[in-house]
Amino acid sequence: MIKLFLLFLPLFLFALQIKNGEVKLIKLDANSTVFLEGKKIPVTKNPAQKEGYFTLIPIKYKEKPGLYTLLINNKKIPLHVELKEYKKEYIKVAKSKVKPEKKSLKRIYKEYKNAMKIYSTITPKRYWNKPFILPLDSKLTSSYGNARMFNHTLKSFHSGADFRAKMGTPIRASNDGRVVIASKRYYAGGSVVIDHGEGLYSCYFHLSKILVHVGQKVKQKELLGLSGKSGRVSGPHLHYGVRLYSYAINPLQFTKEIDTLFKGRR
Ligand SMILES: [Zn+2]
Repeated sequence: MIKLFLLFLPLFLFALQIKNGEVKLIKLDANSTVFLEGKKIPVTKNPAQKEGYFTLIPIKYKEKPGLYTLLINNKKIPLHVELKEYKKEYIKVAKSKVKPEKKSLKRIYKEYKNAMKIYSTITPKRYWNKPFILPLDSKLTSSYGNARMFNHTLKSFHSGADFRAKMGTPIRASNDGRVVIASKRYYAGGSVVIDHGEGLYSCYFHLSKILVHVGQKVKQKELLGLSGKSGRVSGPHLHYGVRLYSYAINPLQFTKEIDTLFKGRR
């Protein structure tokens, strides 16, 4: 009882802070129930400790800033969502990628529906137990969350992070998992998506060559494909994304947040 009190005391004194498009990792002493605004959030064993659990709270990009309530073992914890101001970007792409022809619309809708069905699936098993790595060692060229104007007409937001990658650069799995998408798609081009379990997915887009197949188990650093410039792009690069409970969250902030589990570990 005392232990539980000590665990929650700091949470009561300071509301948890999070920005839209980011994820918060909360370490828990014991297996607990977590609800965010009535929605149950999975709790899982801490891979860096013998005992201990953790939970990941993602806040979607378009979430309204304000005070939300997190319920941990029926205890209310205020969660303050701060508005993050993202940069604006202007990108020039092929006309067909802004105003697709009628025949492409059917394909786009099908691909979107299929991907969202996958991203909202929560595989009960967790495949990973190590910190996440980035799929290549390169310079970030476009951050997550940038508000985008394609050819000065279409507005959207950048759902991942872009890295400089000349054609044919090897792209590797950021952690262990199972391949759930390995195909050419209209906007994302050559695409690989890995299910890491428990509602977590990583995405590798615009590939020129795909070297894995759906259903294949992959280990961290395993070669997934070669970078390219397929799909809605203005040039060759790798788009790396992370989805948690279907929300596209900042992949770099996610990687850092997961690292906090392993801090202090030999
Ligand atoms: Zn991108």
